[in-house]
Amino acid sequence: MKNFNPERIIGGTDSQKEGFKVTLEQAAKKSGEELFGELLLEPTPEEKLAIATAVEYVNRISKKYGAEHEMDENRIFLLEKDGISSSTNGRLNHGMCDLLHKCVAVDESLSNAILSTNIVHEGFHITSYHSFQIMEDNVETLYRGGISMVDRKDKGIYLAKAEEAIIATLSQNFFEEVICKDPFYAEEIRKTLEVKTWLINFASESKSLNEEGRKRLLDIFKEIRLLPDVDSVYFNLLENNEKGDLYKFGYFTGYFEEKLSETLHERAEERKVFNEVLDRLVVDSKGVLGTKEELFDHFARAHFTGNYFPLARLIDGALEKGSFRKVAIELGNMYTETE
Ligand SMILES: [Zn+2]
Repeated sequence: MKNFNPERIIGGTDSQKEGFKVTLEQAAKKSGEELFGELLLEPTPEEKLAIATAVEYVNRISKKYGAEHEMDENRIFLLEKDGISSSTNGRLNHGMCDLLHKCVAVDESLSNAILSTNIVHEGFHITSYHSFQIMEDNVETLYRGGISMVDRKDKGIYLAKAEEAIIATLSQNFFEEVICKDPFYAEEIRKTLEVKTWLINFASESKSLNEEGRKRLLDIFKEIRLLPDVDSVYFNLLENNEKGDLYKFGYFTGYFEEKLSETLHERAEERKVFNEVLDRLVVDSKGVLGTKEELFDHFARAHFTGNYFPLARLIDGALEKGSFRKVAIELGNMYTETE
C-alpha cells in the first residue's frame, strides 16, 4: 500500500499533523504477531490461494473505480476461529479492516470460499478513500471512510449505508464472477444451492409456520450465500433418509444459529435501502441518470476516489439542487434529526 498522504489529515496544527503521520507510519509496520499475538495463524497452501484470489480481485476492481490505495497481501492476517471477536471484545465478527494499521484480519473458516469473500469485503474498505481528522482534544478519528463522511458537528455519518451497500454489492459480484466459476469450489456451490432449495421448499410448504414466520424464513434463506462445512449439512438434509423433514429442519436451525453470520450475503438492510434509493433516483431523473448500474458506478467511483462532487453535481443536475444532500442523509446513519 502506498504511504498515507498527509493531506488526508484534517484539523490539528502542522506539528500535530506531522506527529500523527509518524504514528500512522509506525502503525502500518506492526507485524501480525504484535497486533494479534497467539490468535495469529499461518495460512495453509489452500488458504494462501484463497487470499491471493481475493487480493487480485480487490485491486483490479478498486483500480477500475480510481482507487489510490492497493491491498497488500502481506497485510492480511489470518486468525484462529473467533479470533476477530476475541481481539475486538465481541464488537466484530469474522472480519475487520484496520485503517490505522493498514491491515485486514479475518477468521479462519471451514470454507475457503467464505474466507476469500470475507477478505474481499474488508479489502474494499482498505482500498477505499479514507482520511482522518484531529479533534480539538488531539484525538485522531476517521473522518472519511469511502463514500461516508462524519458530520463535523457530530450529527451522524452521511452515506454510511451507501458505503456498506457498495462494498456488499461488489463482494457479491466477486462471489458470482469468481467463486461460482472456480472449478475448485464447484462442488461446494452445487451442494449449497441444493441445501438452499431444500430449505426454501420446506419453508414454503410447512404447515407448522404462520405466514409471518414463513416470510421471515424465506427472506433469510434467499440470502444464503455459502455454508461452512456444507458437506455435513448436505448429508443431514439431503442424504440421510432415516429422519423426517421436521427433524432435519430442527437440525438445520441449530446449525444455522451458530453459523448465521458466516452464511448470508452481508448487509441486507443497507443493500435494501441503497437499492431503493438508486431505483427511485433513476425513475425520478427520467433517464438523465442513466441505468441503475451506471448510477451505481458513479457511487462506487466516489467511494474509491473520495471525490463525490461529480456525483453530487450529477444528482443535483438531474433532479433539483439539494437532492444529493437529502440522499446523503437518507443513506446515512444520523444521530439527530437533520434537515
Ligand atoms: Zn463493511
